[in-house]
Amino acid sequence: MYSQILCGLYQNEQVLRVGAVFASGFIRAVKFLEKHWVRLCHDIRKGTIDGEITDPNVREAVMKILKPNPKLAAFVESECNKESWKGIITRLWPNTKYVDVIVTGTMSQYIPILDYYSNGLPLVCTMYASSECYFGLNLNPLCDPSEVSYTLIPTMAYFEFLPLNKIDGNADSISATEQEHLVDLVDVELGQEYELVVTTYAGLYRYRVGDILRVAGFKNKAPQFNFICRKNVVLSIDSDKTDEVELQNAVKNGSNHLSNYNASLIDYTSSADTSTIPGHYILYWEITKNNQNPIPDSVYEECCFTVEDSLNSVYRQGRITESIGPLEIKVVENGTFDKVMDFALSQGASINQYKTPRCVKYGPILELLNSKTVSSFFSPKCPQWVPGHKKWCTLD
Ligand code: AMP
Repeated sequence: MYSQILCGLYQNEQVLRVGAVFASGFIRAVKFLEKHWVRLCHDIRKGTIDGEITDPNVREAVMKILKPNPKLAAFVESECNKESWKGIITRLWPNTKYVDVIVTGTMSQYIPILDYYSNGLPLVCTMYASSECYFGLNLNPLCDPSEVSYTLIPTMAYFEFLPLNKIDGNADSISATEQEHLVDLVDVELGQEYELVVTTYAGLYRYRVGDILRVAGFKNKAPQFNFICRKNVVLSIDSDKTDEVELQNAVKNGSNHLSNYNASLIDYTSSADTSTIPGHYILYWEITKNNQNPIPDSVYEECCFTVEDSLNSVYRQGRITESIGPLEIKVVENGTFDKVMDFALSQGASINQYKTPRCVKYGPILELLNSKTVSSFFSPKCPQWVPGHKKWCTLD
């Protein structure tokens, strides 16, 4: 990361595009720059590479590019030293045309911060892919992130689709009844949601990728899909089931209260705590503040309440009937989500493909999050729930 940013800064006029696979990785790079710009400027000024970079091949490659450039070092220093980092991307890399990052699915939560750092450069999601195989491309790369759809490329793998209402459970393999309901790529229907199932050249047979897609339209006869969410992120205490999309929306609504205090949410995850009776949802929030003014406890409580009020009616009913306890927000120290990522990397995750888990069950990560918690707040009252209200209403 250090060497790449050093070379990128050194060749700042030549950079036309910045990015990473996922938005979270890109934000991490900006944060890295925020932490290390003094050392980077020193290296640019002297034409050296920091002693902490020890890999001889990397050192050699960087030293082939780097020559002392005090003028550039002074420029980078003056930009990074400014109080506000608004537009830092376009200031440091003035010829950048767009930010190449995936911001679909839960990555969409990073759009405001990306807009802030890039002064509203286009955010381009080019592809939908995985370690197992490539899936598809965005044929309209300059469209708004909310409009992105991916056209699956039929020669990448054999694609099949399991209609959402035919999913039996969370098993890794497809059950016999599910097999009967699989639909081919040519047979998907506009507006329908499906779980993606692939058979790959490398030998995976009817493999469940774990993603839910919605048919958004067609390019000629090729279906195009919106990425909706990962299938298996579910918070549940009682009969409630909260999926990733719902959680994301609720967190977005709740965190809006922070903006009055010049603060915003950097990252979040959740867990279902059943060690208390009744169990309750816990959200871990890492927050960035643009001034020193403390955020009153009542604001965090308001955030808890708004999140609860935005969740589904089964959850809200559970709160009224006390089968679910008040939602808790645990505010964690700055840098905690970097530590969560470091932990995942130490266990073998790839830095390029890392995505913050939106729900955590794994003990060591929960311990890490709890050890970094600086304060915690509970929802002060029950959310609204109208008895008899059903999600799907008929005209009566
Ligand atoms: P991995 O399992 O690390 O190879 O990552 C593949 C997963 O990343 C996919 O199954 C999706 O859940 C997610 N992913 C990949 N591309 C996109 C995209 N364009 N939009 C949203 N999520 C994506």
